[in-house]
Amino acid sequence: MFYIYRRRKVRRRVRRAGRMPKSPNRADYVAHKNAAREIILSRLEYFAGEYVRLDPAFATKMKFGRVSIRNQRSRWGSCSAQKNLNFNYRLVHLSPELRDYVIVHELCHLVELNHGRDFWVLVEKTIPNAQALSRHIRRLPMDKIVMI
Ligand SMILES: [Zn+2]
Repeated sequence: MFYIYRRRKVRRRVRRAGRMPKSPNRADYVAHKNAAREIILSRLEYFAGEYVRLDPAFATKMKFGRVSIRNQRSRWGSCSAQKNLNFNYRLVHLSPELRDYVIVHELCHLVELNHGRDFWVLVEKTIPNAQALSRHIRRLPMDKIVMI
């Protein structure tokens, strides 16, 4: 019984994998990931500098670890408890305004780990229309955003 159950499960998984290639946009990712890294790193530095200008304490609070550029279909960015930042390479295909919003959003998570009021106040210090951009970016079909 157990054996039959396992075999069915494996077959189902293989079929699903066949229908849905893991990275249909791999070529786009390879072509743009270095540009994405350069833009993201330079904007991270720029905005971290802006926060330090507002309050020198941010120089230590906004120190981040590793920055990863990934080909993912579910998130624009994330910030780990270890202060590593992770960004979707598709940010290169967005407008500079939306891109900056995502970068500042993750940068501010280094200080505020949640999405509470203090978090948004911090984001809005450099991106005053952050909440509108947040609503806008949530409506974008992330998996369809390749070469514009
Ligand atoms: Zn967040």
